[in-house]
Amino acid sequence: MADFGKAILDGAGAFPLDKYQFLRRLREASTEQYYQLLCYYTQQVLPYIYTPTVGEACQQYHALRIKARGLYLRLDHRSSILSQLKAWPQKDVRVIVVTDGERILGLGDLGANGMGISEGKIELYTAAAGVNPAVCLPVCLDVGTNNVKLREHPDYTGLRAPRPIRQQVYDEFVQEFMEAVQAWQPHTLIQFEDFGNTNAFRILERYEDTACCFNDDIQGTAAITLAALLAALRVTGQRLADQRILFMGAGEAATGIASLISFCIHRRDGISEQEARQRCHLMDSKGLVVAGRTDLQHHKLPFAHANVPPCATLIEAVRAIKPTVLIGVSAVANAFTPEVLAAMAELNERPIIFPLSNPTHLAECTFEQAYRATGGRVLFASGSPFDTIVDERGVAHHPPQANNAYIFPAVGHAAVLTRAQRIPEEVFLVAAERLAAMATPAELEAGALFPPFSRIRAISADVMAAVAAHLVDAALGTAPEGWPAEQREGWAAAALRAMWSPPPPAAPSSRL
Ligand code: NAP
Ligand code: MN
Repeated sequence: MADFGKAILDGAGAFPLDKYQFLRRLREASTEQYYQLLCYYTQQVLPYIYTPTVGEACQQYHALRIKARGLYLRLDHRSSILSQLKAWPQKDVRVIVVTDGERILGLGDLGANGMGISEGKIELYTAAAGVNPAVCLPVCLDVGTNNVKLREHPDYTGLRAPRPIRQQVYDEFVQEFMEAVQAWQPHTLIQFEDFGNTNAFRILERYEDTACCFNDDIQGTAAITLAALLAALRVTGQRLADQRILFMGAGEAATGIASLISFCIHRRDGISEQEARQRCHLMDSKGLVVAGRTDLQHHKLPFAHANVPPCATLIEAVRAIKPTVLIGVSAVANAFTPEVLAAMAELNERPIIFPLSNPTHLAECTFEQAYRATGGRVLFASGSPFDTIVDERGVAHHPPQANNAYIFPAVGHAAVLTRAQRIPEEVFLVAAERLAAMATPAELEAGALFPPFSRIRAISADVMAAVAAHLVDAALGTAPEGWPAEQREGWAAAALRAMWSPPPPAAPSSRL
């Protein structure tokens, strides 16, 4: 067996969950070897550490024979969060990924089992952006769960109570957590992950101006999708401001993406954000989001436009809006029907179609469907990976994946290195624009919108340099030591040097 990574994984059990547990135990028993796998064989191990396996791992977490790596903070132990943090064995923590387990991927409320998502995501900080694992802390705020089956399971170790009915109880607990972290480790970055959507928007609004934090489901997704869109526009040569963008979905991802697109148009073309938002149209489970609807939640209101008719179905909306870009973030499988795809193909020379819903079986369409329906003219990106298509001339078309891991580890590591006070929306714009510029003309020609994930550390270094420069210029952070203020062109190399790596494996194979 030539490949060290594959050899180890092949011996780790037949099912993805076996490999997940094997890797978890390896991390405990042979930490260096585990991090060698993570950092030198990232693409091979990632599916077992992160999506798609992490979803199943969270569903089964209570039944797995693994030790939690992260810290649980329970609602019934409130008023003592700071002392719990101080008692934690890690004394220098720079990155926290925190969830409350209410909306784990598309799998719903998994309560304390959500720890698995914080643990999975934090590994990407190390794999993709070289953050030392010793300074990374996964956290689960255990406020109970409304998942009765889980709550009553004999092996469930979380708080056996429903989520608090009173918002005040919940909000005070989150506030205690935020204040305790800031008192304990003032320069720690906090990433919010997989909160239910009402809490997610409210928490972000509450803390984005006062803490070094962001929400990956809203902001990380927005940046990767904007990057994909800007890269697609490098192919068509069109301006962002000239697009009509239709979203299937109006939740965390859709409103996050639509807001960042509007902000980008505002910045580039000088029109107001309100006017820029006219380019973005959202559909929720009740139809097109339009002015006059009385059932719209707060986050949808900026996109409730008056100049479009109510539409009950996606095809009606496509006919009314004539979108140049169609984005799926609804978790409704096959929502981009042959009729919808044919309409997009007819409306556009190069239709831009991004079915982003995860996991794979929930995608709004497959690459093959989009490719065939548009005669190969589609500019495509998906949330989950799809197979390569080889056309009749033998040319391979690789569907790009809009993977948040191109963005959040780099943004987070840059924030840590610059000791950022907060992370403004511009940071996600900077990161998206940087990433969008990276694919080479040949890669774009081949249908890729991003450089390959195998180059993730170099990509992250570039994004880190751009984000750090922005934070320093905005006086929200300070240049890290050894990053000369006058030589910005050296910052990507400095970012690469700032990355932690385990020693290379002394494996029979030297394919590193
Ligand atoms: P969310 O906040 O729960 O939003 C889901 C949205 O879909 C809601 O607005 C919902 O409508 C809408 N919806 C449900 N059924 C619909 C239907 N039949 N027609 C039209 N809209 C419908 O979830 P989220 O965080 O935005 O995530 C949504 C999906 O995006 C998930 O599958 C997630 O995996 C994926 N995602 C992908 C990436 C990525 O690829 N990089 C990143 C983040 C998320 P109501 O508002 O009426 O309930
Ligand atoms: Mn998430």
